[in-house]
Amino acid sequence: MKLNTKNERRAASDERRKLPPWLRRPLPAGETYNRTDNVLSSLGLETICNNANCPNRGECWSRGTATVLILGNICTRNCKFCSVESGKPTPPDPTEPARIAEMAKQMGLKYLVITSVNRDDLPDGGAGHFRDCINEVRQQCPDIHPVRNSQTDKNTARREKISNGVKFEILTPDFRNCQARALKILRDALPFVFAHNIETVPSLYPVVRAGGNYQRSLNLLKMAGETYDSIQTKSSIMLGLGETDAEVEQVLKDLRNVACDRITIGQYLKPSKNSLEVVEYVPPAKFDWWKQKAASLGFPWVMSSPFTRSSYFAERENTF
Ligand code: SF4
Repeated sequence: MKLNTKNERRAASDERRKLPPWLRRPLPAGETYNRTDNVLSSLGLETICNNANCPNRGECWSRGTATVLILGNICTRNCKFCSVESGKPTPPDPTEPARIAEMAKQMGLKYLVITSVNRDDLPDGGAGHFRDCINEVRQQCPDIHPVRNSQTDKNTARREKISNGVKFEILTPDFRNCQARALKILRDALPFVFAHNIETVPSLYPVVRAGGNYQRSLNLLKMAGETYDSIQTKSSIMLGLGETDAEVEQVLKDLRNVACDRITIGQYLKPSKNSLEVVEYVPPAKFDWWKQKAASLGFPWVMSSPFTRSSYFAERENTF
């Protein structure tokens, strides 16, 4: 989201003033921020940072990290929490994997998060394109040094070394109607982390995520964990949409029951004028409380704060 005109900048500033103090942030700026912006724009890459109007863009891009959005920026669903456009997407772009590899080279990435819109129009849900993007980066970035994670098991550490050091996290759609097929395809390009967001509590699915299905999302995480025994699985939930504490706790338990390793918990913020309203601004202390609660339920990796998003500090090895 580039704020080009005076009016746009004024509107963004008015919007920020309405937020509680802990959710106000300065507008993005700085040398590394501009460099990230230039690399992405010159290569014609989409990011979820821009398409979802993520409030962390200034911070993440200033650290030289961004989450690439593959398979276009038009989604086959129309979730009310999300600002990504909905409609009929174009076919996967065969040049996209090479452009992502070039980005990884130019930015010297060690950890790359790749996500996509829902592609219910494709027989494999877009899994083949995820695979192609990962494999192309692995081929094209031989000079990036390996990153080891003391928490990974031996197989994962070995595979990451073979993969020239870039660690991949993929944040996938729920692969409606093709979960087994998609997971089989992704076996040829296993990431370090396989993420799929549960987003909210099941009672709010009809309003927040009408095209989704709570059990289907849990099932994908379960299958991913069982299919690839050397990866970590991850999910994310937004607070402030009208959920109760008991419902959130149950979601955390359900995720642990499918052996989900990583969880992020953040404040829902209305990303566009047509998106759902925020029901509640959850105070930072409550996010700290949820972090402890998630840890007590067995999550070894937890990010929980108002600004936490699925890919926020995804590269962090330890969160405690
Ligand atoms: S949290 Fe994720 S989506 Fe948001 S700016 Fe950072 S990398 Fe982009």
